[in-house]
Amino acid sequence: MSQNWKIETKAVQGTYSPKNSETRVVPIYQSTTYKYDTSEQVAKLFDLEAEGHMYTRISNPTIAEFEEKMSLLEGGAGAMATSSGQAATALAILNICGAGQHIVAASTIYGGTFSLLSNTLKKIGIEISFVNPDAEPEEIKGLFRPETKALFAETIGNPGLNVLDFEKFSTIAKEMDVPLIIDNTFATPYLCTPLRHGANIVIHSASKYIDGHAISVGGVIVDGGNYNWNNGKYPDLTEPDPSYHGVKYVERFKEQAYIVKCRVQLLRDFGSTMSPFNAFLSHLGLETLHVRMDRHCENALKLAQYLEQHPKVNWVSYPGLPSHPSYALISKYLPKGCSGVLTFGIKGGLEAGIRFIDHVKLTALVVHVADVRTCVLHPASTTHRQLTEEQQVTSGVTPDLVRVSVGIENIEDIIADFEQALDHC
Ligand SMILES: *Cc1c(COP(=O)(O)O)cnc(C)c1O
Repeated sequence: MSQNWKIETKAVQGTYSPKNSETRVVPIYQSTTYKYDTSEQVAKLFDLEAEGHMYTRISNPTIAEFEEKMSLLEGGAGAMATSSGQAATALAILNICGAGQHIVAASTIYGGTFSLLSNTLKKIGIEISFVNPDAEPEEIKGLFRPETKALFAETIGNPGLNVLDFEKFSTIAKEMDVPLIIDNTFATPYLCTPLRHGANIVIHSASKYIDGHAISVGGVIVDGGNYNWNNGKYPDLTEPDPSYHGVKYVERFKEQAYIVKCRVQLLRDFGSTMSPFNAFLSHLGLETLHVRMDRHCENALKLAQYLEQHPKVNWVSYPGLPSHPSYALISKYLPKGCSGVLTFGIKGGLEAGIRFIDHVKLTALVVHVADVRTCVLHPASTTHRQLTEEQQVTSGVTPDLVRVSVGIENIEDIIADFEQALDHC
């Protein structure tokens, strides 16, 4: 039934259907452990022959509700929650890529992901090639090697807010026969469902719009179930796994092979598990995702339009403005809105940026985006201050750049706050 609902109904109701006199709301199963009647039942769990919860590091009923709702919203075959968005990205890659192998990634991705790929994964022997997502297909394809295992990009890049050309990227992934992994954090499944545009794996930082209130760090990986792993390139999915009595994931778990393997090998071994309490909060966040996202999008567009005509503002970047390079793609990929993050530059550069940040009142200075409260960050004086000016510019951070995460307060109050802070610049 839930598969046919519209996305708003899926977000509220999910797949949870309590039986007579059970809790109406998904409860928090704050238990590490599960009780069994016989040792045979536990043996079957260990051999992956029976379904059930064994230990909360690997699965838990509250976490499972969050996972099922995410899979439903993204249109996937299954999902696995993680302790953070960073853990989701790391495990999504490590599940199919190891030492001596290689991935191709868009260069416009989130800073934390850039660092994970270019430092930490590199240290364990995974090679990365970054590419400008605007490059011609031939240039992108030229970076692929026989040992390339995945193509990675974001629906909306950060801080450029470039919208991914899914048609181009999914065509390249198909031609090179690797899965397309998409970080859909900024768009959320309400604004964009990458699996419908040719992606195979979708990841999220649940710490952003999914939770939506800046109260819990988490992540999730959704398996599209739409990639054929039986092409000789992914033996870990098709050959026997000695750590589970020789199970072959594709043969046994079919379209859920990737996500089952990720859980039973990587969550088991790395233990980057979401807590049941955070799963409860993330699941609660999803119940209002569609209502919040509509308001985030509406407010962000109005603020972007206001800033664009302000005499003290040099430039504004928001995909919903016709002046943004991605504007032509939004009717195809973000028809409901372009999410709540925008950037702008104030005349007077670094000093003006600092003065603006120091004078906002309703708006808060925080190192976060995507919650109900409007917040700002001036990367040149904070997150990117250790970089030289040249390095800042290559990473897309100009000295005047202010990043805004537009909340769901009344837009007139948000604009009035920006107006009075700009008066000080
Ligand atoms: C925040 C963020 C992440 C990392 O998520 P955490 O939950 O902070 O670990 C990954 N990708 C994007 C696009 C993000 O905004």
